[in-house]
Amino acid sequence: VDEVDGSFVRTVKNCVFSKSTPTPLRGPLRVAAVSKDIIEEILDLHVAVTQSEDFLHCASGSRLLPGSVPLAHRYGGHQFGYWAGQLGDGRAHFLGQYSNRKGETWELQLKGSGKTPYSRSGDGRAVIRSSVREFLCSEAMHFLGVPTSRAASLIVSEEPVLRDQFYNGNVKTERGAVVLRLAQSWFRIGSLEILAESGEIDLLRKLLNFVIKEHFSFISLDDTEKYLVFYSTVVNETAHLMAQWMSVGFAHGVCNTDNFSLLSITIDYGPFGFMESYNPNFVPNTSDDEGRYRIGGQPNVGLFNLEKLLVALSPVLTLEQQKQAKVILKGYVNVYQMRFHQIFKAKLDLLGEEEVTDGYLIASLLKMMEDTQSDFTMTFRQLSEVSAQQLHSMNFTQMWALDDLSYHTHFSDWLNMYLRRLSRRQNGSDLDRQHRMKHVNPRYVLRNWMAESAIRKAEMNDFSEVELLHHILSSPFVTQETAEEAGYAARPPLWAERLKVSCSS
Ligand code: AMP
Ligand code: MG
Ligand code: MG
Repeated sequence: VDEVDGSFVRTVKNCVFSKSTPTPLRGPLRVAAVSKDIIEEILDLHVAVTQSEDFLHCASGSRLLPGSVPLAHRYGGHQFGYWAGQLGDGRAHFLGQYSNRKGETWELQLKGSGKTPYSRSGDGRAVIRSSVREFLCSEAMHFLGVPTSRAASLIVSEEPVLRDQFYNGNVKTERGAVVLRLAQSWFRIGSLEILAESGEIDLLRKLLNFVIKEHFSFISLDDTEKYLVFYSTVVNETAHLMAQWMSVGFAHGVCNTDNFSLLSITIDYGPFGFMESYNPNFVPNTSDDEGRYRIGGQPNVGLFNLEKLLVALSPVLTLEQQKQAKVILKGYVNVYQMRFHQIFKAKLDLLGEEEVTDGYLIASLLKMMEDTQSDFTMTFRQLSEVSAQQLHSMNFTQMWALDDLSYHTHFSDWLNMYLRRLSRRQNGSDLDRQHRMKHVNPRYVLRNWMAESAIRKAEMNDFSEVELLHHILSSPFVTQETAEEAGYAARPPLWAERLKVSCSS
């Protein structure tokens, strides 16, 4: 730990953390949302405590938990393809670890809790808009089954924060907010990169050993191949994560190495987006002019980031191990494709193995969805809800996504092939098929317009829609009346087409 608690920005050497105290937000403060699941299942508390003054202060950074020594983490990273030097937690404070009654250890962080020695030009704050998005999306991803950091609470303040709201071109005053977020580890690829780049190899080894001991406990620290096994695990798990992102239409938006977790969980929610009309070129972040982080580019960006991880590990690998690591990295594409194939087979209930047919069925469905701009989430969902008989007769009343798709000239051919494929591997009734498919194809994802609508109300101190979304997205595979009334599974409203999100999201 770097002992200097600087209020200025500087490049530091030989440290992983700097002591840094959260700056209390200007009140009155208000608990806008909490995740009961986290409070009770992870933090071993009763949800009633979230109504206490103590919680409000602890979860917003104005009071420290006993024994907590808040820290800001020093890391670096490749941003949009280029080495960006030292970055670090610029608006997040690590509060400490909590070991719960299940024996799990979680790292607690505040985000939006003020400047740190790594804030560079930023103000250390997060606005209500971005905090609502992080709160809702991390919880939504968890319940979709995608590895992710979690969000325990959202506190809003009266503190004015300036952000450019590019969609009207004016600088707009917003209000500061803080999210209490949790992950089993917040270390990123950039955590290792900064040490390797600065030639701090002893510290690199020390941090690696710590991460392995805490989070890769199946690897022995006595193993001379431990860093290679570690690398191989991260390569595999990152490939899995990329496939999972694709399977729910999630585009992270800023896939820099400093936003890629060493545990291969989704972290640092910013200008992310769920793809609506299927389009591999979907770019959620308006600041990403070149579309580097378009949804279809994510698997490749994962590869790029893992290459950078290998560079960071190289100082602690022998030449022979570096060669082996390159072979492991070459395997990434295969692991990704295998996982993608597996997940999409499940999405279409293609039981058993008919590799050629299945690959064709998946690829041609996606191509037709692209051609007809069909909604990604609802196409898969409606395929899960439609009966085989309805499919045969192409009766798609009240199935708007399938209706869109059915205009494609190749659709009926595809359908025949699909139905034949299903009948060859019948496992139970058609209802069983629907049942299985409904468990892997969500009906609700956090569409941009849904978040935006909740944000507009939240900015007026009405958090009912944040709560509603949080509740609904906690069971994304279950049809819910309130969600249907709100139109969350309906065709997105027209105003949603003009919505944009930027880095300050
Ligand atoms: P991001 O693109 O959000 O991952 O941020 C990249 C770097 O900028 C990280 O070091 C952040 O901590 C820092 N940063 C982003 N927003 C702010 C802010 N409002 N204040 C201070 N630092 C920030
Ligand atoms: Mg980040
Ligand atoms: Mg950030």
